[in-house]
Order: sequence, then structure tokens, then C-alpha cells
Amino acid sequence: MNNDVYPMLEVNLDKMFHNISKVVELCKNNGIKVAGVIKGVNALEPIVNEFINAKIDMLASSRLEQLKTIKGKNDSIMTMLIRIPMLSEVSEMIKYSDISLNSERVLLDKIEEECTNQNRTHRVVLMADLGDLREGFFSEDELIETALYVENNLSHVHLEGIGVNLGCYGSIKPDTNNLGKLSDIAFKIENIIGRNLEIVSGGATSSLTLILDGKMPSKINHLRIGEAILLNRDLIDYWGYNMDFLYDDTMILKAEVVEVKDKPSYPIGEIFIDAFGNKPEYEDIGMRKRALLAVGKQDIGDFDKIIPLNNEIKLIGSSSDHLIADITEVNSDIKVGDIIEFKLCYQAMLYLTESPWVSKKYIRKSDI
Ligand SMILES: *Cc1c(COP(=O)(O)O)cnc(C)c1O
Repeated sequence: MNNDVYPMLEVNLDKMFHNISKVVELCKNNGIKVAGVIKGVNALEPIVNEFINAKIDMLASSRLEQLKTIKGKNDSIMTMLIRIPMLSEVSEMIKYSDISLNSERVLLDKIEEECTNQNRTHRVVLMADLGDLREGFFSEDELIETALYVENNLSHVHLEGIGVNLGCYGSIKPDTNNLGKLSDIAFKIENIIGRNLEIVSGGATSSLTLILDGKMPSKINHLRIGEAILLNRDLIDYWGYNMDFLYDDTMILKAEVVEVKDKPSYPIGEIFIDAFGNKPEYEDIGMRKRALLAVGKQDIGDFDKIIPLNNEIKLIGSSSDHLIADITEVNSDIKVGDIIEFKLCYQAMLYLTESPWVSKKYIRKSDI
């Protein structure tokens, strides 16, 4: 008897392991270590275990709670906090995160103070803002001064290196210009302190494009990768790369059809606002065959962030708990009780992995 519960997120752990191993190998061949970023799947334990099985160099998250859970299960895993720590979490942070990204003197002083109190040491990567305008020192001089300050004045804080984040707020592409700049700053700091920096961290999934193009500056020796491993959508959909060496169906959403009816495509009555206060546009294309599915914005975010495996299905809208599909063009017969399958974009992955209302099923390749 099949007792599956829907909506369901089905994770193929073998495909996940494959993606982790391939990305790690690609980076290793270019002298680059990988921090496996697990915030996108809310650090779901079976997925985290695949990263550990694949001998990832370190695990990273923006959420300290996730690193705390990982450390609680296995203290020997190296962890990296990739959101600038909150002042209020520094005392916990140095217990559960071996390395953190930083951009504020006041936080570095606080880390030193807490480390002194707790008799610990902590490693920091100072962030350079090279134009994306989210975190990091905007002034190169200030970055270098702060690096020297950590090196010379903070005995419990180790200057592990420098890094950059791109393509998150300002949508800036990583290229040889900005990553070259990061390399230059690293050389300058190394010259002054008289030793090598352990980490020069050149960004996230989008920075893999430089490796794929054979253009990664040799000084970059670290990347923080989530999306390419977990989903492998961005470099295909937005960048147009052939990413056949990775799976793009590591995670599948399965949702159940609860209604199938012919309905007009244009709403009837005075059009006002939808369930979320938006004013969508509707196009009148006559009567259409529609399927209503039991999954909604609460589980996936926007409906255009999931992709039906059957490309004859066209998604047209959603509210908190419902998804509406136009199935007029579908060749097969879709009925109430059928299960429709989807690939995910990042937003849907983030929501689905977090939701207590979405069941999780973990399979191996051999199960299919
Ligand atoms: C989320 C995040 C990453 C990982 O980004 P992906 O696109 O998932 O690879 C890397 N660095 C920082 C600072 C992040 O916040």
C-alpha cells in the first residue's frame, strides 16, 4: 500500500552526492576549495550527510542555528558562517562556526572579546564589496587596514583571508576584472603581513562560470557553492551553460490534483485584487481545461518558480494553498487524484525544504 503524503518533496540523495562530488572535483582541478552552502535546503540532515560523505572541505550557512545543529551531530565538520554575524550572536557563533565572513571592526573586537572569555580562537574572512553593494568593505584602504588590525592586534582572531560576494543585490557578474581586483588586494595584504592568506574566496555559484570559461584568476582558491550543487538551474537557465555533468532533478515536488474542469480564462465580475493584494493581468483566450492542485504559495513561493516535468502543462496562477494549471494542451488524461511532478528553482527549494506541511521523501537512484 502506498502511503505517500502530498505535497511531497522527493530528494534523490545519489544525485545530490553526484553533484557535490562533481563540483568539488571541478573546483579542485582549479586549485579551489569548496564551502558547501546548505542554507538553500534549510540544512536538511540527509542532504547535509551527502556533503559529509563527499568529503566537502567545509559546510556553510547564513543561519547560525543550522551550523549549530551540524556541529551538534559531528564536531569535526568545519563550518563557515556566511552572513555577517549579528553582535547578539557572536558568543554562540564562535562555538559553532569555525570561520565567519566579516566587514565591521566592532564585530571583530567583539569576536576577540568573546574568544578571550571562552578561551577559543576563531578565523575570519574579510569581505570586499567590489560593486554588488551588499556586504563588505567598500574602501580598499579600510579593508587592508582592518586586515592588518586583525593580524597584529587580535590574538584570538586569525585572519584567514578575504572574499567577495557578487550577483546577490546589485546583480553584478563575477569577471576577471572584479576577481582580479580581489586577487590584487590579497597580494597586497600578503606582502604587508609576510605570509599567505589561507582563503581568497571568489564568490558563489555564479563564479563557477569563470572556471568553466578557463578564466578564473589563479589567486582565487575558495568558492561558496549552494545552488549549482543543490539544483543546477541558474547556470543553465540564466547563463546558458551546458551543465550536463550535473543533475537538475535532484529534488522533485509532487502535488496532487483536486479538481479538473473546463473554465473561462478571463475572470467574471469586477477585477479587483488577488489573495496577496496584487492586481494581476488576465488574458481572455476562451474556455480552457484546468487542473487545480493542492499546493500553493506557502509551499513554493511564486508559481513561476517551479517547472512541470510535463512541458505541456502550463501554470497560470496560485494562492496560498492552491496552484492552477492550464492542461488544455496535455495529451494524456489528467484526473483528480493524479500526481503532477515539478523541478524547482531556488525560491521553491527554500520554501519546500522549510515547510512542515510538505512531506519529505529521500530516495536513492536504485529506488527508481
Ligand atoms: C547564499 C550565499 C552563497 C551561496 O550562493 P549560491 O548561489 O547558492 O551558490 C555564497 N556566499 C554567500 C555570502 C551567500 O550568502
